Amino acid sequence: MALREQNYWLTTVEMPATDQTRTLPETTEVAVIGAGFTGLSAARTLAKKGARVVVLEAETIGWGASSRNGGMVLTGLKLGVNKLISMYGRERTRKMYAASLSSIDCVEQIVREEGIQCAFARCGHLEVACKQAHFDDYARQVEVIAREFNHELKIVPRHELRAEIGSDIYYGGMVDEISAGVNPARYVAGLGAAAMRAGACVFERARVETIEREARQGEQGWKLATSRGSLWARDIFVGSSGYTGAATPALRKKIIPIGSYIITTDVLPEAVARELSPRNRMIYDSKNYIYYYRLTPDRRMLFGGRAAFFPESKDSIRRSAEILRLGMIDVYPQLRETKVEFVWGGTLDFAFDIMPHAGQMDGMYYALGYAGHGVAMATYQGQLMAQRIAGGKPDNPFDGIPFPGAPLGLYNGRPWFLPFAGAYYKFLDWVS
Ligand SMILES: Cc1cc2nc3c(=O)[nH]c(=O)nc-3n(C[C@H](O)[C@H](O)[C@H](O)COP(=O)(O)OP(=O)(O)OC[C@H]3O[C@@H](n4cnc5c(N)ncnc54)[C@H](O)[C@@H]3O)c2cc1C
Repeated sequence: MALREQNYWLTTVEMPATDQTRTLPETTEVAVIGAGFTGLSAARTLAKKGARVVVLEAETIGWGASSRNGGMVLTGLKLGVNKLISMYGRERTRKMYAASLSSIDCVEQIVREEGIQCAFARCGHLEVACKQAHFDDYARQVEVIAREFNHELKIVPRHELRAEIGSDIYYGGMVDEISAGVNPARYVAGLGAAAMRAGACVFERARVETIEREARQGEQGWKLATSRGSLWARDIFVGSSGYTGAATPALRKKIIPIGSYIITTDVLPEAVARELSPRNRMIYDSKNYIYYYRLTPDRRMLFGGRAAFFPESKDSIRRSAEILRLGMIDVYPQLRETKVEFVWGGTLDFAFDIMPHAGQMDGMYYALGYAGHGVAMATYQGQLMAQRIAGGKPDNPFDGIPFPGAPLGLYNGRPWFLPFAGAYYKFLDWVS
């Protein structure tokens, strides 16, 4: 079959329908920007609490990273635990790590409560070491995580790695049994349907263009102009992640959009799939220029990476297909003759400190900065921020941590430096 430049996950799902002719209400209590995991999770929670919620989505439900990702529902954060402790101290780091574990439970609970058919399974994740030094570091990490966070990870030495992965190129691995896998497009579709069932109104093709402060009948609030008309909202929650744009310029300057790309093969024979990933783990390697891969529920190899640093374009997607295929064959020479059927890309949201951030900026609520770890954390942050907007005081260790901008303020939201950053990370992988 010829290569299809299309998101494979979208071939497995029907997104919930919304009425494209309906006009926006004049007012609402909360306007949510973005219909991905963050926005829909917040909308569901708010609507269940009885708030009037309008979700404004520039494209369609799940159009952003939420339908395009690897479906790895991962524990932990992008930064290592020692780095986190040096940045935030023991107490907050403990809470952050605990939040990363709770975020998996949060996804599982929503899937169960809403009956979402998205192949959620606690199959665990496997990180594999590309160098001996990386493997040596696993032992230190496992010890710190057990001591500080009371969470057990398992080290897999090189000679036992075949029980985990059908590849001989790695120096060993580290397993966390708590992580899970999911079909992300089915999950975001289910989350959208659940938010609507709870009473949230979702408007697709409603790009928020401008936002201005405006009081109404003595109440402070916001006027949002969208491509489907305007509305007034008492509160705004921004969940636009890597697609954050000109409507929220202060937030846009804090986020670097980075492209990530994925290929999937034809359906593999059962025996081959079992050899490649005997325990069906969510797998990623230890490089900065990372590869991540897994089997799909219908037994394709899904293989992703930051094959080009710029956000996706037709050209970068096409080039990524061959780069990723070669990467996949390096890991799994068994797949040399296997056809790649799908290739697509999406945009990740990196903060300058590679941390998730949530809180209030210029009076608007937001949560973003998941840095490729957003399936669980975006769902969780959406829920916590909804509780805060509804007047609660959830314990959210990411709420209000320092949110750095670019060094010297040299960034206006257009990432001119990405090719240099890409080269820098390749260099780091070479020397470290
Ligand atoms: C290729 C790829 C692979 C990934 N793999 C994984 C993985 O395996 N595991 C993991 O944990 N994470 C992964 N991630 C990250 C994860 O997908 C994201 O962190 C998560 O989906 C973010 O969800 P979100 O709702 O915040 O943003 P998104 O899903 O990106 O949604 C943001 C939405 O906001 C909308 N929007 C933007 N501006 C406006 C506006 N002005 N008006 C209205 N709407 C607007 C956009 O149209 C978009 O639909 C991956 C990401 C990519 C791109």
